[in-house]
Amino acid sequence: MIIEPRIKGFLCTTAHPTGCAQDVREQIAHVKENGRIKDGPSRVLVIGASGGYGLASRISAAFGCGASTIGVFFERPAVKKRTASPGWYKSAAFTEEAALAGLYARNINGDAYSESLKQRAIELINKELGCIDMVVYSLAAPQRELADGTVCRSVLKPIDEPFSGVTIDINSAEIRPVSLEPATHEEIRDTVKVMGGEDWELWIKALMEAGVLAEGCITTNYTYLGSEVTWPIYYHGTIGKAKEDLDRAALALNEKMASVEGTARVAVMKGLLTGASSAIPGMSLYLSLLFKAMKAAGNHEGCIEQTTSLFASQLFGERRLEQDDAGRIRMDEWELSDEIQSYVRENWAKVSQSNLNELTDFAGYQKAFLQLHGFGFSQVDYAAEVEQAVEMPLVD
Ligand code: NAD
Repeated sequence: MIIEPRIKGFLCTTAHPTGCAQDVREQIAHVKENGRIKDGPSRVLVIGASGGYGLASRISAAFGCGASTIGVFFERPAVKKRTASPGWYKSAAFTEEAALAGLYARNINGDAYSESLKQRAIELINKELGCIDMVVYSLAAPQRELADGTVCRSVLKPIDEPFSGVTIDINSAEIRPVSLEPATHEEIRDTVKVMGGEDWELWIKALMEAGVLAEGCITTNYTYLGSEVTWPIYYHGTIGKAKEDLDRAALALNEKMASVEGTARVAVMKGLLTGASSAIPGMSLYLSLLFKAMKAAGNHEGCIEQTTSLFASQLFGERRLEQDDAGRIRMDEWELSDEIQSYVRENWAKVSQSNLNELTDFAGYQKAFLQLHGFGFSQVDYAAEVEQAVEMPLVD
């Protein structure tokens, strides 16, 4: 069939298999251009491996370090005329490219929060890899089902004060006001349950109890701080509370993993357009301004540039495990530099419908949104018929 983008609000309900494969190949090419990462891990488990930072981490590990990877994700295959999710197509393409390169890659599709999926991953590690020396936790999920069947939902809301800002419609580029009431205590608690550090701890606990963490194992989790313009909805909002909980979990994990001389780190990554961040109210304006400023400064990066330099420098290279005062690895230094943030601050309230394309890189934001779903790649012939059902080897 011929697949076109079908966009509703901040969602695109279709994905293009050829474009998603192109995205994966471009990420692999970037990693290869950067050269082999010395002293990297050789067996890596990536939880949340099919999109954004998790997929990029998997590509950096596999194609930069030559690592065997197990990817855990929650993706939807194509059903009749309905396309698969972008993460399905991208994981299928990654698996194919890994096989061509002679790299071990296995996929587990299901709910990473569940105990049964953790046990499936452990069985696979035991059977095929023996143990692992890196665990990347990169889940971004709207909800979590707890062991007793209770479902907690994560919300993107401010705390204490109402939030008012603007959002930019992806299709029409129309700037619209958006306002949100503060979250309730239950909503804050539930967001921390979904996006906080508890499940990261449960994964490490299960892996340790099964004896499949190698000596010197490292585990990372990703956070975002942003600047004062995004704080009301991000760092001081419900998601920020969950991110604070990651810092607590990292401390606890460092103690727990001492018996295997392991290390847990939270890495602060740059703000980028991914499946998860496209849903954050007000983020479209911030990222459009940020892209404009960072592209002009020549230091704009995507997920793959970020994870590749995280691996090559801060995790396994010359800045090995360098921490800020809060014990985190910083990959957002350019984003938060005075030069970039003063541009964002100065123009934050000035953006209007008439100067949107002049003050911001909304066009770049739109392109990134399309490419997230496999559209907008010049190498792909979107008028050609394409098979929407793409097979992917999965672990039962
Ligand atoms: P994403 O939406 O691109 O990817 C999320 C991943 O989680 C996908 O692989 C998806 O399949 C998986 N997933 C979701 N629910 C699952 C479930 N129940 N079981 C198994 N897998 C599940 O998200 P992203 O933006 O790459 O976010 C990853 C992490 O990076 C998050 O912690 C996010 O807060 C953080 N981060 C993102 C940004 C950004 O700007 N996007 C910046 C800094 C940090």
